[in-house]
Amino acid sequence: MEIELTEIIGSDTSWASSPAVRNVMRGNRKRDTRPELALRRALHRRGLRYRVAMRPTRASGRADLVFASARVAVFVDGCFWHGCPVHFKPPRTNVSYWGPKIERNRSRDALTDAALRQAGWHPVRVWEHEETDHAAERVARVVTSRVSEDW
Ligand SMILES: [Zn+2]
Repeated sequence: MEIELTEIIGSDTSWASSPAVRNVMRGNRKRDTRPELALRRALHRRGLRYRVAMRPTRASGRADLVFASARVAVFVDGCFWHGCPVHFKPPRTNVSYWGPKIERNRSRDALTDAALRQAGWHPVRVWEHEETDHAAERVARVVTSRVSEDW
């Protein structure tokens, strides 16, 4: 758990002052969240095979789903932590903290995507609120198009 936590926050440890906040933060990058499991099932039904919680490249963090041969990395982003334009509402307390915090998460997501693209990968981001079949269709289309490109 500690290792994952360090990966999530990097050198930014100012938030960790209270155990309650710490626990909330732990909930952040929890694996096997419900939207993630639903997406995995939907992709599996479509005959797609993937690896879970892997690093697409040595330098990158873990993606939620990785299609290695197609070089597609899928991230299922939580609406709160990744600042979903539809659902994100800053908490009432510590607004001056959470606003920039979520902003940093978003910047990091953008950097991650850019780094993956540079390494020849195709990042796909799915919001946790996205309808499962819609998300699965989106992912499947990218994966199959990239697999056929190799032929
Ligand atoms: Zn949302």
